Amino acid sequence: MDIREYGIWIDGREHEPADRDVLRRSSPSTGQHVATFALAEPSDVDRAVDAARKAFDDGVWSLRPASARGQILLRFADLIEEALPGLARMEAHEAGKTISAAREELNWSLELLRYAASLAWNMPGRLVDQEGRDKIGLVTYEPLPVVGMILPWNFPTVTLFQKLPYALVAGCSVVIKPSEFTAGTTLEYARLAKKAGVPDGVVAVLPGTGPVVGDRMCRHPDIDMISFTGSTSVGRHIASVAGESLKKVALELGGKGANIVFADADLDAALEGALAAFTINQGEECCAGGRLLVQDTIADAFVERLAAKTEQMRLGTPDDDDAELGPMIHEAHLTRVLGYIDGAKRDGAQLLAGGGRANDDRLSEGFFVQPTVFSDVTPDMSIFREEVFGPVVAVTRFHDREDAIALANATSYGLANGVWTSDLDNAIAMSRALQSGFVYVNSYLETVPQLPFGGVKQSGLGRENGPEGLLEFMQTKSTFIKLKPARQYTQ
Ligand code: NAD
Repeated sequence: MDIREYGIWIDGREHEPADRDVLRRSSPSTGQHVATFALAEPSDVDRAVDAARKAFDDGVWSLRPASARGQILLRFADLIEEALPGLARMEAHEAGKTISAAREELNWSLELLRYAASLAWNMPGRLVDQEGRDKIGLVTYEPLPVVGMILPWNFPTVTLFQKLPYALVAGCSVVIKPSEFTAGTTLEYARLAKKAGVPDGVVAVLPGTGPVVGDRMCRHPDIDMISFTGSTSVGRHIASVAGESLKKVALELGGKGANIVFADADLDAALEGALAAFTINQGEECCAGGRLLVQDTIADAFVERLAAKTEQMRLGTPDDDDAELGPMIHEAHLTRVLGYIDGAKRDGAQLLAGGGRANDDRLSEGFFVQPTVFSDVTPDMSIFREEVFGPVVAVTRFHDREDAIALANATSYGLANGVWTSDLDNAIAMSRALQSGFVYVNSYLETVPQLPFGGVKQSGLGRENGPEGLLEFMQTKSTFIKLKPARQYTQ
């Protein structure tokens, strides 16, 4: 694979690295050098914001009819689809994914992009006209002029496409800071957006570090909103920094999902779902079902089957079409995940599968962790409470519904939970009781673009996707009009 070299994308063109510091990205699967990114500096943020603001004020995008914006976004989707095989390979190498996971990520992102584009033909607005013939009220929605987007490394494309197309449909200009580890595909999307017809200045991409580029974005007086996806600790910091200039802040943060299996569920389907929930994207998934709560009457047999299936999973590099799990994103994260595994062993959890770094010679250059199952996990253990962000599941037994609810909600996070049951009343009662922004019933991690996504508690603020995902990038204006009516109600 060729080593790709990237500059900084501002005002519709790539600025060469010149005298800037660069970051060499090696594939976490193979150790090979795959990309070099120029690192942006605070002055680049200022230039990008100036160009974004000018594009907004000139109306080259913001004043175009929404349906024309929608057409361009549909063209953007077609261009991504044409380039998908190459983009998926880049994503797999930079983010440490299997090739199938990378393709799946891009295909889902295309669905989000096309759905967001469709909202252009159904823009929000409301009329109030039944309060007397002398009054009309208009509720209109205006784009936030300049939106800053700060992104994580685990789903570089999906996390971008839960934001970017919605902001573009709204008419905003955007300044994007991808994760410093995975900026390649985001820069490719900026090129394709230009090719599709998005005017210069409307999209900027600044590869760089959080404390330098991200921090400047959060403090910049001309950025109206920060839309952030990442860890809860960085999200909290960003909210406080952005709060100084009272910017709007939307936060998609961490999670500690509980996947809850009742005895009356279709247990074969629940088993597949439980496995996918903690191994998808090798567990580097904010909605991962890292806690598995199983009803005590079926727990022994269910957990035994889960451990056996886990042991059969195939780890592999992006060249391996059959691989089901990739490596951890970098060495520090590998060490962190192995630390959680060691901690669970020390705390007395029972190890049923995996339990360490992969010991396969094929994978010796990568940061691979064996998919790991721990049983007999109690709520006081770190592995029950903290986001591991690796292929590790903590199994806990429950007795009845009340017990399951108490265990599931015993976390500071509230992003997603899953329920497996054949009793509809039970499913609805559980959905109402679970403290999370999303509840999966008889599936895990499956959704459609129309459904909004986001967290409660320490998992975030605001919603992405669905019509709510568009409104997030708009501000509401009310206009009250006093009329001289021809006729009026008299008592
Ligand atoms: P992170 O919080 O370390 O970094 C996220 C982004 O913030 C990166 O671009 C980073 O450079 C930037 N950043 C770091 N410090 C900053 C600062 N001081 N000011 C401004 N920006 C700063 O997260 P990560 O390790 O990249 O991603 C993993 C985390 O993301 C997990 O906790 C995961 O749950 C979460 N996540 C959440 C969702 C969701 O939709 N809720 C989706 C994906 C990932």
